[in-house]
Amino acid sequence: MARIAFIGLGNMGGGMAANLAKAGHDVRAFDLSADALARAKDAGCLPADSADAACADAEVVVTMLPAGRHVEQVYRVHVFGAADTGALLIDCSTIDVDTARRVAEAAAGKGLTAVDAPVSGGIAAAQAGTLTFMVGGLDEAFARAEPILADMGKAVIHAGGNGAGQAAKICNNMLLGATMVATCEAFGLAEKLGLDLQRFYDISSVSSGQSWSMTSYCPMPGVGPETPADRDYQGGFAAALMLKDLRLAMEAAASSGADTPMGARAAELYQQLVDSGQGGRDFSAMALMLAGKI
Ligand code: NAD
Repeated sequence: MARIAFIGLGNMGGGMAANLAKAGHDVRAFDLSADALARAKDAGCLPADSADAACADAEVVVTMLPAGRHVEQVYRVHVFGAADTGALLIDCSTIDVDTARRVAEAAAGKGLTAVDAPVSGGIAAAQAGTLTFMVGGLDEAFARAEPILADMGKAVIHAGGNGAGQAAKICNNMLLGATMVATCEAFGLAEKLGLDLQRFYDISSVSSGQSWSMTSYCPMPGVGPETPADRDYQGGFAAALMLKDLRLAMEAAASSGADTPMGARAAELYQQLVDSGQGGRDFSAMALMLAGKI
């Protein structure tokens, strides 16, 4: 069992740290929020007074922070100075590829090994320990990270070198954003054409229009499996987080010269959804916006 520092105990990190403690690791946890820290203590983690204190003597440092600037600040101000030489740094936050590569390089310069390991799966998967991790880093770093990540997830996949995990994550979520918009507009058109929506689902879910957005996360209430649409689009994956990921994808497209017109349109539409005050609702609430209901 490893001595693990866990920094960032929010919606996702709280459940993840709890699962590491449940697996028998010695988890020293830190968050700026006293409430988050208290929940981690209840879940079996040892609360630390500071990020530096959490990192002292840690073999592994896991971070689950909002965005790239938080990761860079926590690494440079706290982790790099406090972690022992040889410690493994695993950043599970969703951040931009450039920052992920930059911090990994800076870590290597300090004798530390870093991997980016963003996740697929939301808060429920973080709590249940069923996340999918996409990992960017050297082979030996992946080999060290894999058993730790396996205690928090159902799949751990090596995507390539540093930054490759973040690259896989934003490409996947750009695809998800675009297919969700397309699925919502297909249902909107089906309704206007007088089709029964369940019948359309029955047909499309076994035809060439099928996608995860259709069959696993159907955006129409009462159609297909139970999804956030059946709970008035509450819970699930917030539209604001989808917008964050689409923005990261657009930044990466601009810096790499990739042409991503569907991703760009999805980003515009999610911006509109968030601007209308719906950022906290599930991202499938796009169906309501396209139908003119919000
Ligand atoms: P969150 O805002 O709930 O949690 C972030 C935590 O980081 C907060 O508790 C905050 O207090 C803490 N924090 C911020 N700066 C800190 C610092 N300097 N030191 C210590 N703690 C600090 O966010 P979340 O929903 O847990 O998401 C975390 C990451 O996971 C994000 O990058 C997000 O994009 C990604 N993600 C989220 C989901 C989801 O469904 N929520 C799904 C997949 C990926």
